[in-house]
Amino acid sequence: MGGSEEIYRKLFIESMDAIFIGDARTGIIIDCNRAACELVGREKSELVGQHQSILHPASERIDGTMTRTFLQHMTDKEGEVLEAQVVTKTGEIRDVAIKANIIEIRENLYVQGIFRDVTDWKRYEGQMRALHISADKLAVTKSVEEIYDIILDIIRSVLGFEFLGIAVREGESVHYVKALGIDIPPDFRAPIDKSIAGRAFLTGSTQLINDAKIDPDYHVVEVDASIPSMRSELAIPIVVDTKVELVINIESTKLNAFTRRDKDMLDAFADRIAASIKIIRHEEELQHYIEELMRSNRDLDEYTYVVSHDLKAPLRTIRSFSYLLLKDLGDEISEEGRDYLHRIANAAINMDALIEDLLLLSRVGRKFTNVEEVDLNQLLREIEGDLKPIIAQRKARVVVNELPVVHVPKTWMKQLLTNLIDNGIKFNKSEVPTVEVRFESRNDDYMFAVRDNGIGIPEQYFDKIFKLFERLHPREEYEGTGAGLAICKKIVDYFGGQIWFESRLGEGSTFFFTIPSSPKLGEV
Ligand code: ADP
Repeated sequence: MGGSEEIYRKLFIESMDAIFIGDARTGIIIDCNRAACELVGREKSELVGQHQSILHPASERIDGTMTRTFLQHMTDKEGEVLEAQVVTKTGEIRDVAIKANIIEIRENLYVQGIFRDVTDWKRYEGQMRALHISADKLAVTKSVEEIYDIILDIIRSVLGFEFLGIAVREGESVHYVKALGIDIPPDFRAPIDKSIAGRAFLTGSTQLINDAKIDPDYHVVEVDASIPSMRSELAIPIVVDTKVELVINIESTKLNAFTRRDKDMLDAFADRIAASIKIIRHEEELQHYIEELMRSNRDLDEYTYVVSHDLKAPLRTIRSFSYLLLKDLGDEISEEGRDYLHRIANAAINMDALIEDLLLLSRVGRKFTNVEEVDLNQLLREIEGDLKPIIAQRKARVVVNELPVVHVPKTWMKQLLTNLIDNGIKFNKSEVPTVEVRFESRNDDYMFAVRDNGIGIPEQYFDKIFKLFERLHPREEYEGTGAGLAICKKIVDYFGGQIWFESRLGEGSTFFFTIPSSPKLGEV
């Protein structure tokens, strides 16, 4: 048995966990191993014979005799792993996991305390959490440049590293766009194939260097003697869609300054950064397309305006000369010839109406943009006045409920309502064509409804009718160009609202549109 005791003794001495053996009744330490001495930074002679409270900071001690953890072990938690703190000789606090066993030998009660130093784990855990929380700041950034500052700020505040830089690739060299702790001259460039950050660019994987001086790619920044020479390096690539977008470079003047856990943590952080950069890039791209689209829309409006305008003059000529021919040479022209001339003149008139509508469409959002306080009740009376001929001719009724006062360019509001009411009367075969206008005040907008008892719109045309010059009926049956609803849609878009309709064939249609309570007039 003597040999076996030797084996267990060795185990006790060499264990990587700290082991203390104490008298459970008095709390006096009677033995400890090498790891125990290392844990608290004391010689064995300084520990043996002392009360166990020498190991613990004040917060852990209870009335100077026993520690809280020890008491817990003594009572209901024997053998369980509990978290506690120890204090070293120099006053440093370390987090430990403690397992204590109570052993009774011939009426003596001993305690074996096995201590494992978890300070680093706890720190990493805390850092990981802090990194994770801080990374939320990335999600609200608007530009990649803004992200640079946030990255450096987070790494410094959470991980406490001193020398940080953000490098981008410029052809065959690496350029630092931001740095903390080191003054890197703006024109400094390191060759991509002769620098550790460069290697991160080329390989796309994190470089953890324990001794930079012996690394073949270590690039000494020989710019200023005041820059301390670096011994350890961590270069973390930020990879967005397989491209290394940037490299975060962290340096230290100490050897072996960075651990694998630092690397793992930063790799996880790098993924968050990459995701944010990706979102920003998408948003920038989207913004670019939107601007392009708005620009081309403006060009198109401009173009439409110019072309339409220029087309009107020759059209007038065609019409006038057709009439002149009819008037001056009418007798000399055959019946058939006169019919042709009438058709030419009518076509010119129709074309003129089309051009007028095109001009009108091109003006929405460009002309008459003055925002006014518009009392819609008053506006409706004006519209009814303008539509008097068709109302009288069709013996129609326009029913208007109490309407609100809105702030919009009046011309376009009038155009919108006129088109909808006019359509409601026009596409109507009821004995008394009736159009009712009402509104509903909602959370952020007003919703208007223009309802008629007209012919209705077949379902298959639901997608079609807001398109320019799309008509469901020949001109002989119902007058019009097919631009009215396209103009309405452009106006509502301009107001920042929406337009749609519901309809049943033969029963009537209701056109709905919304206007935000405080409209931000947009681009159309
Ligand atoms: P237009 O009135 O000049 O024909 P619009 O753009 O105003 O042009 O309307 C497009 C088409 O949608 C019309 O030709 C008609 O077929 C259909 N439409 C519009 N409003 C109504 C309505 N209130 N009832 C039935 N059909 C309608």
